[in-house]
Amino acid sequence: MTKSFEINHLVLQRGIYLNDIRKINDETNVYIYDWRIYAPSELKYLNQSANHTIEHLLADYFNNSKEVTKIAIFPYGCLTGFGIALAQNISPQKLEKIILDFIQSVFAQDNFVPGNSLSACGNPRTLNYLEAIQVLKEVHNDIINGKYHYVYA
Ligand SMILES: [Zn+2]
Repeated sequence: MTKSFEINHLVLQRGIYLNDIRKINDETNVYIYDWRIYAPSELKYLNQSANHTIEHLLADYFNNSKEVTKIAIFPYGCLTGFGIALAQNISPQKLEKIILDFIQSVFAQDNFVPGNSLSACGNPRTLNYLEAIQVLKEVHNDIINGKYHYVYA
């Protein structure tokens, strides 16, 4: 069974969690992190534009990361966050630091969304930098104010 279905979403809080470790072979693991922007119990959700735009920005940032090797970034269908699959086993707090750096880089790139074209994306009309920024400001404040959790209840 998929690990994420075993998490009690009624008590799941905003935060960054190591959700699963998938063994590929004797030497290789994939570490799947759960970046939960909204707690499901809040009944608050990313809108399609914010969700889609953060997906593009995150994928681009992690593709260029020298700290970690990205396997995949995937937005949740429930619109409460993102899965981040990495080749490295890092602490959720370390991933939080990388996400803070990511947010700073997005703030600095002034209205640029990578892959914003019909040849690079299935639906670029839904990309919107300002919608993404609104959510990322909230995430930034949550992290700075110590509102993030790192261990599943
Ligand atoms: Zn796209």
